[in-house]
Amino acid sequence: MTVTAPVTLREGDAFVLRLSGARASLARVRFSSEAGEKVRFPAEILTPIAIGNGEFVVLGRVDLGKTTPLEYEVELEESVMRRSIPVTGLAQPIQRLNLPASVNAKLADPARAAEDAAVEQVYTRRTPPMWTRPFQDALSRRTRSSAFGQPRTYETGGPVDYHLGTDYPAAAGTPVRAVNDGTVVMAGMYLVRGGLVIIDHGGGVSSLYFHQRRVTVKIGQQVSRGDPIGEVGSTGLSTGPHLHLELRVRGQATDPANWMNRLWPTPPSR
Ligand SMILES: [Zn+2]
Repeated sequence: MTVTAPVTLREGDAFVLRLSGARASLARVRFSSEAGEKVRFPAEILTPIAIGNGEFVVLGRVDLGKTTPLEYEVELEESVMRRSIPVTGLAQPIQRLNLPASVNAKLADPARAAEDAAVEQVYTRRTPPMWTRPFQDALSRRTRSSAFGQPRTYETGGPVDYHLGTDYPAAAGTPVRAVNDGTVVMAGMYLVRGGLVIIDHGGGVSSLYFHQRRVTVKIGQQVSRGDPIGEVGSTGLSTGPHLHLELRVRGQATDPANWMNRLWPTPPSR
């Protein structure tokens, strides 16, 4: 069995390990360096996903803020192969946000905990991958404003939070489209995320769309890549019309740029 991995990774990357050769389907993979890290489902045991021609992939993620090597183990019958990949930081300066009192009130609202809990529940889903084509942009014309992974503090001297998605400013009412095939697992208006849609694509991958003025899909609905799911707005914790898009692997945020126009996420060459 052969295992191919990225040579280097950056915090916030999504990537795949590629497995091929006899019995690759029987391999069990875990990202062992996640044990003891503050990530959802650390070091979960993963089974390879068949992609045809006797090849398989396993989806990995690098948590934002992680700059130590990513270690993984591939177990096949009696043998365990252990390897590691160096990780570099994004080196973005910390942005200090001075939020108006109305925003701080939303952050402190008890309804926020219920919203967060509902979103967390989505990340526990494990269904087979539902997509067969590359991921595509959620807006047909787009410019990026706030970058993925931007570290922020909400109060002077407060803890650093990362921007877990990418912001795309667009006129209110612009159609928002599914980045790929999947099942709608959350759809509605929420205090912080505003008009929210979450699509489970299977394979532990979910896409999240925030701040829409209108949501036009329902929970349980199957969507295809490019289907309209709502309209750009400025609902929830937002200061102007834009789409906040997230792409998560087993609940951890990864850089949407790794996914666009690709069947499997690939860290940009650097
Ligand atoms: Zn955002």
